[in-house]
Amino acid sequence: MPQREMPLPTVLDPRGRTFGEEERAAVLRVLDSAVLCGAFGREARELEGEMARLYGRAEAVSSSSGTAALHLAVAAAGVGPGDEVVTTPISDFGTVAPVLAQGGRVVFADVREDDGNLDPDAVEAAITPRTRAVIAVHLFGGAADTVRLREICDRHGLLLVEDCAQAWLGEDDDGRLLGTAGDVACFSLQQYKHITAGDGGLCVTDDPALATRMRLFMDKGWDRAEGRIHRTMGLNYRMTELVAAVARVQLTRVADVVARRRASARRLADAVAGLPGVTMPRWHPGHAWWVVPLLVDDNTRWATALAELGVPALPGYLERPLYANPALSGYPPGLCPRAERLIDRTLLVLPWNEAYREDDVDRIAQALGKVAAS
Ligand SMILES: *Cc1c(COP(=O)(O)O)cnc(C)c1O
Repeated sequence: MPQREMPLPTVLDPRGRTFGEEERAAVLRVLDSAVLCGAFGREARELEGEMARLYGRAEAVSSSSGTAALHLAVAAAGVGPGDEVVTTPISDFGTVAPVLAQGGRVVFADVREDDGNLDPDAVEAAITPRTRAVIAVHLFGGAADTVRLREICDRHGLLLVEDCAQAWLGEDDDGRLLGTAGDVACFSLQQYKHITAGDGGLCVTDDPALATRMRLFMDKGWDRAEGRIHRTMGLNYRMTELVAAVARVQLTRVADVVARRRASARRLADAVAGLPGVTMPRWHPGHAWWVVPLLVDDNTRWATALAELGVPALPGYLERPLYANPALSGYPPGLCPRAERLIDRTLLVLPWNEAYREDDVDRIAQALGKVAAS
């Protein structure tokens, strides 16, 4: 009998998360204070200051989820009925839900076939007089081309939003921090992200007017310093104090989390380099490795074969491009052929975790080797 291997650590398992005594103390500190709502405590405001400093940006605004953070950005950008926002068909639904909530129209641009990030030429071709903003997702922690997207947005007078939910502390090829090129960058603290407080969101920006509009939208259009006056439409997207206190500790751990993921992904990249039929797309050291994306000839075959060897892998990341979901309508099949080919055929996603040890990585590499040889 072969020895049964320990299953790999996952984000739903204490081994695969980075909670310690500090998070425990943070939760108790808030409970003992009796103030659990972010409107009345200090934790959420402190978190915002710490996030702004981490990213070297003037302002940060907290919220209840990554989707809420994106809604703050899209609402502050002034997106309303009839307005268009250009983005990618390969992302979490949270990237597009805020546009729909504002009565706007999502315009999908195709992606690059090597890494699944937005193709800037396709973005430019999708711009119309109704376009207000572009949302660039740094997919899987790899950099979208924010240099070209920034230039395109500037030339057309559009707001650039970076969706950094999968790209904590990621960097582009020039070593520039992802989340510093957009007018706003949005982050998530959901269970599956690099760091988590269960659910939570953060926006960073250098534009004080944008920050003010996002703050108002986060708290019912209500500036608490002014009195009970609702200046703008707003929802209740406040982050709770319990979440903020845990997030503050997690923020101190994120650099280590990303460093560990980089080291183990590098080990895998070296092992995969010679294998036939599988490539790791566009390796660069700034990748944040939320997951490890691979390109293969037949992602369903690879995922099935890897599962038999005890290595979880997701064919395509999504089951279908965002525009093929029942929640959206009016988009024809074949709209973004490169995205569809990645999802249907060539993209294979390995869950990745900072707790993977060298022997875990070697086991994954061996399994990939076996499937490549079969
Ligand atoms: C997770 C995620 C979101 C949404 O974040 P939530 O906190 O789950 O609302 C948005 N965009 C991307 C790219 C994500 O990965």
